[in-house]
Amino acid sequence: SSAGKDPSVEQQLTVALRIRPINEAELEENAAIIAHRVGDQMVVLMDPSEDPDDILRANRSREKTFIFDMVFDHKATQEDVYVSTTKNLVEGVISGYNATIFAYGPTGAGKTYTMLGTDCDPGIYIRTLNDLFKAIEATSDNMDYTVSMSYLEIYNEVIRDLLNPYSGFLDLREDARGNIQIAGITEVSTTNAQEIMQLLTKGNKERTQEPTAANKTSSRSHAVLQVTVKQKSRVKNINEEVRVGRLFMVDLAGSERAAQTQNRGKRMKEGAHINRSLLALGNCISALSEKGGSRAQYVNFRDSKLTRLLKDSLGGNSRTVMIAHISPASIYFEESRTTLIYAYRAK
Ligand code: ADP
Ligand code: MG
Repeated sequence: SSAGKDPSVEQQLTVALRIRPINEAELEENAAIIAHRVGDQMVVLMDPSEDPDDILRANRSREKTFIFDMVFDHKATQEDVYVSTTKNLVEGVISGYNATIFAYGPTGAGKTYTMLGTDCDPGIYIRTLNDLFKAIEATSDNMDYTVSMSYLEIYNEVIRDLLNPYSGFLDLREDARGNIQIAGITEVSTTNAQEIMQLLTKGNKERTQEPTAANKTSSRSHAVLQVTVKQKSRVKNINEEVRVGRLFMVDLAGSERAAQTQNRGKRMKEGAHINRSLLALGNCISALSEKGGSRAQYVNFRDSKLTRLLKDSLGGNSRTVMIAHISPASIYFEESRTTLIYAYRAK
């Protein structure tokens, strides 16, 4: 019911779930598959913790059902996930609306695979950019469009430029119009998909990753690809109106709880920061969805760097897509359970 909604979309918040294929390491540990997609919107998770034979007996009393807007399983391709979750945001961004896509879930569940992907099977970042460039080329209006992108990480409440890792810590500022800007961030404009993939893959390697007891390559940072589309009338005008659409694609830090990773000292603090921003994010999203997408005063964006950065792109006229990720393996039951609860609560 809010004014100025993007007319091409019916729903402001979409929550999807992706269950990745079981892998060799999990099979070697004799893990069973305990997460099953049922239909397009449902996932069933079985609790294997008390009696593992229950999995074989398919004991229904040990199952929990969760409903999402979309559920993808091991059969879903990168293209399937992109088309269903993100493709329809492109037109809105070109028209000057903001949107945010999150990959949420514990380390190893498939977040980076969904967002960045591999050279042979690229993810949402590159598919979105390609469609954005194509759509701009196809427009026949009297507008000039410029697309620029930045790639950054938020680690321990500090912002680093992943395209220029030696630039130190960057600050968030508000410009005269109250829009959030990152001072000094590298902005790249290129339409060459191969060049972009190289930049992002290289940038991804600059992410702060430190080993913890739970995982050798646990991702402790949020990676944010920020794409800005500026629109300017070709007709000369003194008070030239510039419309700006912004798209954030966020590969969130691992959601595993600090308590599970036996972290001490520095690591413990990292865990606390990560939980704080994921908690702040969950609170913002669920408050906004309760309010039917209107910008309620009590939504506290100031609780973390991540939510401050995304302030103009959550709620209001913006579309938000959350893709939660889980492993289907019984050894990750606890992580899967907490992930499903967090994502389910977001709606
Ligand atoms: P995360 O970013 O959540 O820590 P990754 O995306 O790095 O997890 O995934 C962990 C591993 O599983 C990687 O080797 C990745 O290539 C693989 N993987 C994840 N999701 C899928 C999928 N849907 N299909 C095939 N391989 C996947
Ligand atoms: Mg990752």
